[in-house]
Amino acid sequence: MLVVPAPKPGELAIGYWGAVLRWNGLSRNVADGRQALRLFTGQSVNFCDVPRVELLAKIAAMDLESYVRHHTMFPLRRAVTKDVSGGMLGQGKYRASMISGGTLRVPRPQAYLCQECVREDLGFHGYAYWRREHQLPGQWRCDKHGATLSRVGISQAEAFYASPAQMLPQAKVESDLMFEKDATDCATYRFFDICSHLLGGVVVLPLDAVFSAAKYRAEDLGINTEACTLVRHLLKLEEVQACYDRRWLDALSQEGLTRHVFSDDVSGSAMFSTLSAALVFAALYETSEEAISGMVLSTRECTKSH
Ligand SMILES: [Zn+2]
Repeated sequence: MLVVPAPKPGELAIGYWGAVLRWNGLSRNVADGRQALRLFTGQSVNFCDVPRVELLAKIAAMDLESYVRHHTMFPLRRAVTKDVSGGMLGQGKYRASMISGGTLRVPRPQAYLCQECVREDLGFHGYAYWRREHQLPGQWRCDKHGATLSRVGISQAEAFYASPAQMLPQAKVESDLMFEKDATDCATYRFFDICSHLLGGVVVLPLDAVFSAAKYRAEDLGINTEACTLVRHLLKLEEVQACYDRRWLDALSQEGLTRHVFSDDVSGSAMFSTLSAALVFAALYETSEEAISGMVLSTRECTKSH
């Protein structure tokens, strides 16, 4: 009889797939994938015809949109985009290519875990699982434990197919990303709050409106934005850059803001747009709540008025 674990809150989809395979003694090759589909869903179609994310949603007994919203990094990729049509999953041929090509991608080049979470999981659930919030670019800390995250020193794909507990010996505490700033007055924390909010998949915001809202806010603060025609120009402003630890910003750029990470995106700059906008809004507001509503509500007003 097959073992079908229920996905845990925030469990990363690709890690869940690894768990499903491991628990049932299945390997990663296509034949077993086809076998898994037949075993789990009773359907005997070619595995290649069914995007893996759809298979995972079926195994988890969730509808596709909810599964993507709660278990992948994809909502962040679609949060700020040039083409908002069709909502989070898009529409038409874009929808098909996004579902099959992009929903399971993880932006960081390597896998991250919290050693405290792993120990706690083992004691509580009997097994550990991969959390998506730990895979946010630039994230170096577990919100729950305050512990510094560990980076697993093998390829992302290999790591996520294994259990986080198995990866502990290869996990190294990521001290490079740590920085010294007051946690209560820190744009970096606001950036993560914004990302967490967007990761919830609640909004798909038009890039142009997000840019306008950020520009107006910067101008209200007396910042000269004359030379800025794109969100990433705002990100280059001295006033914005000064809010962040240079070392952290560099590390974030290297691991999360490179375009190749989500290069097949149909709407242009994808994750790059969302992360850039989150960095700008976090710098322009004093609290996470204000930054989030500045980004989400102002863009709605801009969209309506244009
Ligand atoms: Zn933790």
